[in-house]
Amino acid sequence: MDAKEFREFGKAAVDFIADYLENIRDDEVLPSVEPGYLLDLLPTEMPEEPESWKEVLGDINRVIKPGLTHWQSPHMHAYYPTSTSYPSIVGEMLASGFGIIGFSWICSPACTELEVVVMDWLAKFLKLPAHFQHASEGPGGGVIQGSASEAVLVAVLAAREQAVVSYRESHPEVSESEVRGRLVAYSSDQSNSCIEKAGVLAAMPIRLLPAGEDFVLRGETLKQAIQEDVAAGKIPVICVATLGTTGTCAYDDIETLSAVCEEFKVWLHVDAAYAGGAFALDECSDLRKGLDRVDSLNFNLHKFMLVNFDCSAMWLRDANKVVDSFNVDRIYLKHKHEGQSQIPDFRHWQIPLGRRFRALKVWITFRTLGAEGLRNHVRKHIELAKQFEQLVIKDSRFELVAPRALGLVCFRPKGDNEITTQLLQRLMDRKKIYMVKAEHAGRQFLRFVVCGMDAKASDIDFAWEEIESQLTDLQKEQSLTTRKAGNVGELTQHFQIHLTNNNATLEKSQ
Ligand code: PLP
Repeated sequence: MDAKEFREFGKAAVDFIADYLENIRDDEVLPSVEPGYLLDLLPTEMPEEPESWKEVLGDINRVIKPGLTHWQSPHMHAYYPTSTSYPSIVGEMLASGFGIIGFSWICSPACTELEVVVMDWLAKFLKLPAHFQHASEGPGGGVIQGSASEAVLVAVLAAREQAVVSYRESHPEVSESEVRGRLVAYSSDQSNSCIEKAGVLAAMPIRLLPAGEDFVLRGETLKQAIQEDVAAGKIPVICVATLGTTGTCAYDDIETLSAVCEEFKVWLHVDAAYAGGAFALDECSDLRKGLDRVDSLNFNLHKFMLVNFDCSAMWLRDANKVVDSFNVDRIYLKHKHEGQSQIPDFRHWQIPLGRRFRALKVWITFRTLGAEGLRNHVRKHIELAKQFEQLVIKDSRFELVAPRALGLVCFRPKGDNEITTQLLQRLMDRKKIYMVKAEHAGRQFLRFVVCGMDAKASDIDFAWEEIESQLTDLQKEQSLTTRKAGNVGELTQHFQIHLTNNNATLEKSQ
């Protein structure tokens, strides 16, 4: 493909994306394909001869699009939003065009320095403590990881290495392998699966402590667990708290957790993958309480900041702790500006060596939407969730399971779990909206999340109409079935059924 063809293909692709996003409400949010559909449609070998881009783009429409779940649709209400925006898409395109890998400053100074700039912009926008900024006096700073899972893993691994070094300094008689075998970490039973996975990958058990009835993990629970473990000879390493749990968007009590972590010299990491966006709002300032005492935190720009996946911000109070833990050098990675302040070699802050130019899409998005545009986006999602919450409250057949939090409403039809399951199944079969279930203390419920880069009040009404009408239909069907069962019951009271070889006869009961 030459540059001329690239221009044509690229322009056609931009038109294709704009049409797709502009008309996304026209499509059912869930695809209507069966497993293996694409395997049957595509050849098993790559083409020997080149094909034209027009054929390829035609096939994207014909075979790929039907197999998409439309995450950008405002009728998507599952998980948490995975945002995008036009400027961010352009940023992604430009980064691909440059095709650089920015693992050290010399590999593309603009990649490293733009990341330093946008991470400080973001830290200020979210009103994080100043020590998280690169521009601060101390060793703090921010980095863009691919996902919250990676950020959590980096924190867990760095905390583990720090704990091994510091324990061996005070107990040189204990072997390294013995120290490693005694390490233990903590999180809440409401935390995201990626935290448990980080424990598996770090070969360190993570105790998932019971959150309270309000889904919140507090310092006293952590303290009790740490005391038990210390008494049993274990070495506490890190607590991963959550601001905005995946199930109900609950906020762990960072103030009491940080006090316990300080007392026992345990690293405190905060996973604010979704809720971090709300730190920017004055009306949500309570969420930031205690953040001045945490060691690290992460927030997914691809959830709430209109930057497309993958883009997860992570801040460290002392980046040296990560750099010292992960610094593995080779002569070919060295350059003469290494170690200079303000120009980090981000390869030491992450798991892979190579790194994408993610800061470009962040910079373009922030500049073209502005801080006020980003705040308005978060506020709009909150307002739309409030609208949905009111609809739930007004219908006595439903109940809220937890207080609405940001753009998430957790609710269920009153009754047993079976009704929730059946309602969700009907909604999934109809494919007009997409939600998922969650469970707490044996009670299943539905999670309604506001998603999409351009969600409107009418999208909320659309979803509610779908949910409540399906519950009405379900209840009608159930009462019909109950009536039929009642009739059969009455009949069998009056008649006895006699089965002979091939005959059934009814006889009036005595
Ligand atoms: N943490 C929380 C609270 C989440 O809700 C999620 C995903 O929704 C994650 C972590 C995992 O995010 P990622 O896919 O970026 O690893």
